Amino acid sequence: MGDEHENLPHVVVLGGGFGGLQFCKHLKGHCRITLIDRTNHHLFQPLLYQVAMAGLSAPEVAEPIRSIFRHDRRITVLMDTAERIDLERRRVVLSTRDIAYDYLVIALGGGVHYFGNDHWEQHAPGLKTLADALRMRRMILTSFEKAENCDDPDERRRLMNIVVVGGGPTGVELAGAMAELTRQVFKRDFRRINPAEAKVILVEGGDHLLDTYPVDLSLKAAEQLESLGVVVMFNHRVVEVTDACVTLDDGETIPTRNVLWGAGVHANPITRTLGIELGPGGRIPVEPDLSLPGRPDVFAIGDIVTLRDPNRVLVPGVAPAAMQMGRHVAALIDEDLGQRLGAVRARKPFVYVDKGSMATIGRKRGVAWVGGLKFSGLLAWLTWLGVHLIFLIGYRNKLAVLLSWFYSYVAFKRGARIIFNAARSAAADSSTPPQTSAPGAPVASGGSAATIETDG
Ligand SMILES: Cc1cc2nc3c(=O)[nH]c(=O)nc-3n(C[C@H](O)[C@H](O)[C@H](O)COP(=O)(O)OP(=O)(O)OC[C@H]3O[C@@H](n4cnc5c(N)ncnc54)[C@H](O)[C@@H]3O)c2cc1C
Repeated sequence: MGDEHENLPHVVVLGGGFGGLQFCKHLKGHCRITLIDRTNHHLFQPLLYQVAMAGLSAPEVAEPIRSIFRHDRRITVLMDTAERIDLERRRVVLSTRDIAYDYLVIALGGGVHYFGNDHWEQHAPGLKTLADALRMRRMILTSFEKAENCDDPDERRRLMNIVVVGGGPTGVELAGAMAELTRQVFKRDFRRINPAEAKVILVEGGDHLLDTYPVDLSLKAAEQLESLGVVVMFNHRVVEVTDACVTLDDGETIPTRNVLWGAGVHANPITRTLGIELGPGGRIPVEPDLSLPGRPDVFAIGDIVTLRDPNRVLVPGVAPAAMQMGRHVAALIDEDLGQRLGAVRARKPFVYVDKGSMATIGRKRGVAWVGGLKFSGLLAWLTWLGVHLIFLIGYRNKLAVLLSWFYSYVAFKRGARIIFNAARSAAADSSTPPQTSAPGAPVASGGSAATIETDG
């Protein structure tokens, strides 16, 4: 950053996800911006499950944050971990140093939640970062390799049972993709096992899937999963996870080496350092304009926030909400900067615009609820593909993903099926808990650089 920017108001943005990125893109005012993320990339989380299921490689769903803003001289990008926010001193404590702000935008998202059973994480990876997705992929591919090389029928069954926990969008998408992987992709590749005999079991605590969707679409989602061979278990809760099985609340034990966790989300644990009363899941209860109570210079946006908007709508933890919040706060700070720095006046409240929801359940299957219209099957699947391609960042990524999808569609193959460094991975899996997003740990997972660099 050149000296000419040194005396300008300093806007610090924590998190280069959907919210943080939109904020930086839309803030036009005369200021200097420091964008801090613990990884060097923006991650397109809606396609993460395809990385986990070997359909896409990691670089196809991520873009270096530094390169996104290479033309904006006001923006300095720092790769660092935010550890604490000191509201009194107006400083953020990073892992390497402190940084002062005039305005602060907290956009650190959330993490995987194990409902007080953090030790399950070592056997049941969640899906939040690239490292998580690569760990899931390695787990599944390695299990099938071991099953092919195993003579013990019980152990084989254990290796070929896949339990997906949670019937929200992530669980549904994982279960659908997993069923497709075993039944259509692996089909001709093994000799000693029949991958189609693999059992994919989706465990859901409630009595329907996708609980924010209309009931008829939830039913359609369950139907489509079952048509792929997924066993959907409603009204069951997981009470124990080990490296060999999952135990349910009715005492049933499912032998498995593969548990995929899609059940819970909570806010980034940095919220606990704010010294304010937090909302459900540790989220920040923001004012209607998205500022923190009594702190007009500090905003929070995206998954880290809990808010009912003026229409009494509870703003959901989805990418469009985070992006809309980012744009809203950019407009408010721009207004402030146009007046006197820190001026407090009536600010516009944030109003969420719901453009719809959609989830995919494998090839030609999906459910969508857009503009009041509900549809499922092929049309929902095509809509999902189109929308995700449009919002994916980077032309190279769009093209690469389109080619990967076309290849998978015509060849019934997955392009990203290499288990990198299997020997080292197996050793790590069986001894120490892997370096992925320890639920809630502020220094978590995004940057297992060695793993990521080798993928794709
Ligand atoms: C598997 C999956 C699938 C999803 N599918 C969909 C979908 O289909 N449609 C949809 O609308 N939404 C989907 N979502 C939800 C959507 O991704 C989130 O709502 C959205 O990412 C929230 O944006 P955000 O800016 O609040 O946080 P994020 O996008 O999560 O960004 C947070 C950023 O903060 C960084 N960070 C975290 N902690 C620190 C720290 N301590 N220091 C520095 N940096 C830090 C992270 O590296 C990250 O870049 C999905 C989420 C997941 C996990």
